[in-house]
Amino acid sequence: MTGQNPVFIPGPTNIPDRLRYAMSIQTTDHRAPDFVELLSPVLADVKKVFKTETGQVITFPSSGTGGWEAAITNTLSPGDKVLVARFGMFSHRWIDLCQRHYLDVDVIECEWGSGAQADEYGARLAADKNHEIKAVLVTHNETATGVRSDVAAIRRAMDAVDHPAMLYVDCVSSLASMDFRMDEWGVDLAVSGSQKGFMLATGMAIIGVSQKALKACETAKCPRCFFDFRDMASANAHGGFPYTPPLQIMYGLRESLKMLFEEGLENVFARHYRIAEGVREAVRAWGFALCAKSPELYSDTVSAVYVPEGFDSDVLTNHAFDTYGVSFGVGLGQMTGKAFRIGHLGSMTDVMALSGLAAIEMAMKDLDYPIELGSGVIAAQQYYRKTSGIAHSQAA
Ligand SMILES: *Cc1c(COP(=O)(O)O)cnc(C)c1O
Repeated sequence: MTGQNPVFIPGPTNIPDRLRYAMSIQTTDHRAPDFVELLSPVLADVKKVFKTETGQVITFPSSGTGGWEAAITNTLSPGDKVLVARFGMFSHRWIDLCQRHYLDVDVIECEWGSGAQADEYGARLAADKNHEIKAVLVTHNETATGVRSDVAAIRRAMDAVDHPAMLYVDCVSSLASMDFRMDEWGVDLAVSGSQKGFMLATGMAIIGVSQKALKACETAKCPRCFFDFRDMASANAHGGFPYTPPLQIMYGLRESLKMLFEEGLENVFARHYRIAEGVREAVRAWGFALCAKSPELYSDTVSAVYVPEGFDSDVLTNHAFDTYGVSFGVGLGQMTGKAFRIGHLGSMTDVMALSGLAAIEMAMKDLDYPIELGSGVIAAQQYYRKTSGIAHSQAA
């Protein structure tokens, strides 16, 4: 096994060689003057990915989960009421984190495969006449089910009743692969990480923080030390870090931003849409159902696919790994055994996606799934041929 096969898990994602080289650096002194020259422009450029001009970017050495914890503990106090929808494993884990910080969590239970219901958020906010709800939490892209929620609609629901709560969005598996508009959607805390859309090693939580959220740090009582925004922001202001920064990932992030801007953010989003559409064509050709219930919910970074009755998706993903050396996402939580996931975010091309579809088809055929070998690949090929930018420019 050469280990050269791409992974089709929805994070950590494939790391382009260019970024592996960028992260391969010898130790330098993060207290030396040149660290300032690295850090400040990188933080300024990440703001463009969040699409915020008024907010600030704060990073921590951590995975995305640490970013959730930082967002919550810096801006809320024990007993504060938060409103959040649960419709998959990640929104569930965020709720768990809030509960363990002694917040009063009002959960909107949604069917897995549906998205965060803006009208239900609106109804509960309207009923909250005394403005006890301090935070509204939304998972933009639920990685367990392959569902994208409409954050703008939730902001509209908040504004419709003039509710002053802050809006917290988990964009870990969407940022830098799907459109995200922090300022336009009025997001106060946007949580992401290094190992998904940014195509880097795991190890950095990346958070967009509004001015309102920065102010909330002054009165928030949840305990925090390592994750204190104030320590990080004041050190960052002079180009420093309150402790040892993840230097290699910071260099990687600088290069990742270059790659994203060279391609153009809108082109990055269009590429993810195209690749996802090809994958969805393949799922249709197999005759299988996506977990996401309707097209407006489709995620462009991950597709969760139900296997037919009588089959175990864990057997399938294990077989694909053991026999062909290719990793797919397993079904999480209540989807264990019932669905597998194809991650198609970050560094991904038509050709890579086709190889994943071909591999999972072989694994399915080996296990006597009722599919025709090649059917999904052909459907995706046809879509990619029709829509590839190269074909268009040749036709023009
Ligand atoms: C990956 C992911 C996270 C964070 O996971 P970590 O493993 O802590 O980086 C959070 N939310 C969503 C939606 C994710 O996909």
